[in-house]
Amino acid sequence: KLRTRFCPSPTGTPHVGLVRTCLFSWGYARAKGGEFVFRIEDTDAARDSEESYEQLLEALLWLGMSWDEGPDIGGPYAPYRQSQRLDVYADVIAKLLAGGYAYEAFSTNEEVEARHRAAGRDPKIGYDNFDRDLTEDQKAAFRAEGRKPVYRMRMPDEDIAFQDAVRGEVTTPAGTVPDYVIARGDGSPLYTLTNPVDDALMKVTVVTRGEDLMPSTPRQIVMWRALVELGLADAVPEYAHLPLIVDERGKKMSKRDPRSNLLQYKEAGYLPEGVLNYVATLGWSISGDRDTFTVAEFLQAFDLHDVKSNPARFDERKFEAICSDHFRAVDPAELTGLLVPRLQAAGLVGAEVTDAERHVLDVAVPLVQERCANLGQAVEMLRFLFCGTEVELDEDSAKKTFKDDAGQVLDAAIAALEGAEWTVPAIEEALKGALVDGLGLKPRKAFGPVRVAVSGKTVSPPLYESMELLGRETSLARLRSARA
Ligand code: GLU
Repeated sequence: KLRTRFCPSPTGTPHVGLVRTCLFSWGYARAKGGEFVFRIEDTDAARDSEESYEQLLEALLWLGMSWDEGPDIGGPYAPYRQSQRLDVYADVIAKLLAGGYAYEAFSTNEEVEARHRAAGRDPKIGYDNFDRDLTEDQKAAFRAEGRKPVYRMRMPDEDIAFQDAVRGEVTTPAGTVPDYVIARGDGSPLYTLTNPVDDALMKVTVVTRGEDLMPSTPRQIVMWRALVELGLADAVPEYAHLPLIVDERGKKMSKRDPRSNLLQYKEAGYLPEGVLNYVATLGWSISGDRDTFTVAEFLQAFDLHDVKSNPARFDERKFEAICSDHFRAVDPAELTGLLVPRLQAAGLVGAEVTDAERHVLDVAVPLVQERCANLGQAVEMLRFLFCGTEVELDEDSAKKTFKDDAGQVLDAAIAALEGAEWTVPAIEEALKGALVDGLGLKPRKAFGPVRVAVSGKTVSPPLYESMELLGRETSLARLRSARA
């Protein structure tokens, strides 16, 4: 049975690289009818935090991901937190030692470097496998000196090759990876041990992770082979190393990049479908000619073997465009439901939405929806419809618009509107007649000052509809106060 996994260490924020790994593991399992396991790798008490775990969980659940087994829901291979599995690792370490797959190593770093130097090698090339074949007497002598050994995994003297779902055949030449530490002298296990051991015991068949972890893969494969021989694992899993995510300069996007934490998009009011869609495009595409798709389409089409190996660029414009597409696609009534709490929090709408407010929303939400990528932007765009005669003028917009013959434009607009019937076509006719025909202005010049006077900004929902919604008194009051 196909089983994928996501196994973050709970440090830092739910950043885009982490979430993409989860998305691709989840998506692959769902697309292929497999199972998806969520595990927490929290063996580094100094760096791990419960807060990080909570934030990650919040981000994953917001995006609509779900797992079949995990720390929050349990499962047949529980516990799913490594800090609760220390007895499991102790048992495996004992078996690896007994089987000769791992050994106790007493060399200090200084000794390793001194040996390299004496042999004319670069002292920093890493461990020299010196302790591989210590006799019992030698080990006893080291212990008598008060030394505590670390445990190292024995690497084979042969090439290690594997077929990566993304990168194809990857080969590590014999002799390039030294025997590596799997547990400290006090027995506390390292990531090098706990990660493949849990994957094996949890029957994971596909390992999906970032390309930056590639150097550890040959070591993991050696560990897996030992576990298979010990009867603890079925078969070495398939690996899929996901491409780096880079910024606009082509540099690896930092976890601390301000755009990286996905929870900020939840707060800003982006819709989860849009964010999930964008994250899925980081290394994968549904087809050559479109970027926007639903979660269902993603779960239908996704395949790790279609992920591209070249770096994926984080592109804010594409992010906005995809999120706007999703924003536009929501049913307006549903969108209104999402907007009301934010409008209430902004003090624009009362705790009980009145019929009048409801009417404004029914008309305005579909108009605003076309022009926004998130709920926060929509609230700002709706603001002028809920603030009586006193609209706050955006400084930039006012500076750009209230100049030259703007005064004349406003006077003409006021005069024409005073006698107009208050419907969209009548408002349009009055304004066009007065400004375009009357003053001979180009439409952009003509309506700019009116728009800013009425809505406070250069970007607003359509002008005539907005004025109709505001009503004659409020609209005229705003035009007059802009004139003053
Ligand atoms: N806990 C590891 C990390 O967060 C997981 C690495 C892996 O997926 O193999 O880096």
